[in-house]
Amino acid sequence: MHIQANYSLKPHNTFQIDVKTQYYIEINKPSDILTLRSDLKLASLPWRIIGGGSNLLFTDDLPGVTVRCTFDQLKLVKEDKESVWISVGSGMSWHDLVEYTVENNWWGLENLALIPGTVGAAPVQNIGAYGAEARDTITRVQTLNIYDGQRIRYRNADCNFGYRTSIFKQEFTNQLLIHRVTFRLKKLAHGKPNLVYDPLKQVLKDLDKKDITPKMVFDAVVDIRKSRIPDPSQQGNAGSFFKNPVVDLEYFEKLIKDYPDIPHHRTLDGAYKIPAGWLIEQAGWKGRSHGHAGVSSRHALVLVNLGGASGKDICELYHLVQEDVNHKFGIYLEPEVIIL
Ligand SMILES: Cc1cc2nc3c(=O)[nH]c(=O)nc-3n(C[C@H](O)[C@H](O)[C@H](O)COP(=O)(O)OP(=O)(O)OC[C@H]3O[C@@H](n4cnc5c(N)ncnc54)[C@H](O)[C@@H]3O)c2cc1C
Repeated sequence: MHIQANYSLKPHNTFQIDVKTQYYIEINKPSDILTLRSDLKLASLPWRIIGGGSNLLFTDDLPGVTVRCTFDQLKLVKEDKESVWISVGSGMSWHDLVEYTVENNWWGLENLALIPGTVGAAPVQNIGAYGAEARDTITRVQTLNIYDGQRIRYRNADCNFGYRTSIFKQEFTNQLLIHRVTFRLKKLAHGKPNLVYDPLKQVLKDLDKKDITPKMVFDAVVDIRKSRIPDPSQQGNAGSFFKNPVVDLEYFEKLIKDYPDIPHHRTLDGAYKIPAGWLIEQAGWKGRSHGHAGVSSRHALVLVNLGGASGKDICELYHLVQEDVNHKFGIYLEPEVIIL
């Protein structure tokens, strides 16, 4: 275990913001926590957990200790006629895991291809895309208490999964380090493609559903994503910057009178979800910039670092976007990205 002081987090966030943390430490095994806690100076400081930094916006240097879990082993823990259960170290790259599962012809993660970040953040955020969410396949999350290294296991039903959230993002943020995640995946003959997302259905429409494999869905998702979302290694970004807002029926009826083309999706509880990207585009922000920060010309929901932007530059831009959308539609966009 290597403790680095005054360490730049630029390689550890996809916005590529150059801030320093007082201490940076990579944790691999449960006993690392106890070893670190025995150092009185480190123990007295605040601790923060990061993964790949693909959902974070750093606005300033970070006092205290920044820890990242590098444990990345994968093992098959159980198997029956229909399914496999795999336990995966939280430090593994999410996309590498998805690729591994489709190469084995297992169903379950293929719609979540090319989401940056680590396996450990998947339950925190309950990541989702193209009609699938991490909670659909997670059976167990094994955590370590960062104060005493104690192991605590959560079953799916205990994780309080919601839209881009979970118990790990709410009450236990920066308290429980996710060490391993167990997924239940379906074997080839016992699963089927999830094609609820129209653009995905379109790409695979000429194939008979029974001939589609997890790898085919994975390839289609990768192609769609590459054409829509700027690659963070080329242009710093954190994917969708804002959550898609939800309005009640009464407000939606008012909106649709003024904007008959407003795209929407009815939620199970009778409210209406509206794509934040559409609202931002209508407010005239798609492709516009503010200093070194900009709104992507490919996808209005993605704010980008045009080169040399600070976290504060991105914050200024997001406040301007928020204000204009609120002024035009009376809807307050909430960031999905965690601002530190
Ligand atoms: C180009 C791009 C596209 C994206 N597309 C999507 C998408 O389609 N769907 C989607 O849901 N997200 C998307 N995201 C957002 C992001 O990739 C996910 O939220 C991802 O899960 C974050 O993983 P990370 O390892 O980078 O976590 P970080 O950003 O480092 O951290 C996110 C949160 O998780 C916590 N955390 C991280 N690791 C651990 C751990 N081991 N234990 C406990 N807490 C931990 C952190 O404390 C923080 O609260 C996208 C991002 C980018 C840059």
